[in-house]
Amino acid sequence: MDANSLADLKPVVAVAQLTCTADKKRNFETCISLIKRASKLKAQIVFLPEACDYIGETKQQSMEMAETLDGDVISKYRTVAKEMNMWLSIGGFHQRVSDADSLKVRNTHVIIDNSGSIKATYDKTHLFDLDIKGGVRLCESDYTIPGSSIVEPVLTPAGRVGLCTCYDLRFPEMSLALTQQGAELLTFPSAFTQTTGQAHWEVLLRSRAIETQCYVIAAAQTGKHSDKRSSYGHAMIVDPWGSVVAQCHEGADIAVAEIDLDYLQKIRDGMPVWQHRRHDLYGTINVQTKGRIESEISYRFGQHQIRNSHVFFKSALSYAFVNIKPVLNCFLCSLTLVHVLVSSLRHAKRLADLSQPEVSDLFTAVQTISRVIEKHFSVSSLTVAIQDGPASGQTVEHVHVHILPRKPGDFPENDDIYKELQKHDEDMSVTSLRSEEEMLKEAESLREYFS
Ligand code: AMP
Repeated sequence: MDANSLADLKPVVAVAQLTCTADKKRNFETCISLIKRASKLKAQIVFLPEACDYIGETKQQSMEMAETLDGDVISKYRTVAKEMNMWLSIGGFHQRVSDADSLKVRNTHVIIDNSGSIKATYDKTHLFDLDIKGGVRLCESDYTIPGSSIVEPVLTPAGRVGLCTCYDLRFPEMSLALTQQGAELLTFPSAFTQTTGQAHWEVLLRSRAIETQCYVIAAAQTGKHSDKRSSYGHAMIVDPWGSVVAQCHEGADIAVAEIDLDYLQKIRDGMPVWQHRRHDLYGTINVQTKGRIESEISYRFGQHQIRNSHVFFKSALSYAFVNIKPVLNCFLCSLTLVHVLVSSLRHAKRLADLSQPEVSDLFTAVQTISRVIEKHFSVSSLTVAIQDGPASGQTVEHVHVHILPRKPGDFPENDDIYKELQKHDEDMSVTSLRSEEEMLKEAESLREYFS
């Protein structure tokens, strides 16, 4: 295979479907056989459903079988991920919690990378409490502690994955919040009941995909788990246009699909719904995300990934980071000239592609950071600039604002800074870039102003 065809290869993901029971060992073995099949089909990530550890026959049994994050089940999956060089989404396991209320668990979704490390965990936030008068009563909150935050999308080989679980599917706000945070794929590992599944499952999945313009990956429990409980199944993958691109057959199965982020971008560019939102009519979504393991977080900046350690400021919709190749060519270089960038969390190419709350958040961030830069460098002037579009000199196709402190005489002619801005990033060869150490130090010193 030549280099060009290799570059054309898209990541493949697999979605799994099975019937879990109270037999943990058998459930695990079925999952492993599905993971092996997915591996043969070249999948890089396998998504397993909610409760893929077990589905107990009684509440009591479910509580007793629960494990901690470092227990047997997750440890075994970590080993499998490493041995098979695959990422795994353990859509939901019963996590034993050691607080006073020992009769409850958390419904935890775990992302494991191909080295066997846990990249993120998300505790299901919306609990399924159904209490129909004279009919079904199924109250998840009787035995589950709800999660208290959304988790920032996780960078995987297939793109940024937003973590949800089952019933979360009915709350579009959560999907929109994750998309606003940069998600390109949304996962809904589930155990939908027969009745609700038949009526709503596919409609809800396709709706979330269409309105967020994300891939939706929904692993599912299927069939009869016990005399009291059965699930709808129909695990599927939906593309950002809303088409079902893969679906499992009856029984234990996997289905695979390629993830094409260029196609996703084409859909977002062609129908820019984020830009068209009327927040003046219905307000905005205020995202309450929990940071994941600090060192694992990274942010998209056009074609680049910005590491959390280079970021010194974050608001609901924007973030600021230190420049890898600052404009330095000034007269007064006794002053270590800083050159920071403020960008939107969501990937948007041009200023006009931002929604009104994003614009407002970005410029509020610019204002806040400007004050800090002035203080930190004891200056009373700044150059605040946006290169918006390729003809203006924009090299990174992701809206960003340059902030640079200014002193009298720092450039022979005041506006020479624009020439430098134009030139400074022409050569981005590794040897021309700043050292990691220097960037970390600068980010750390600026971060202190916001802590
Ligand atoms: P523009 O030419 O307006 O698109 O500006 C792009 C800016 O991004 C330049 O100042 C670059 O030095 C900066 N830049 C590019 N890649 C990175 C990176 N990985 N981390 C930090 N800054 C970057």
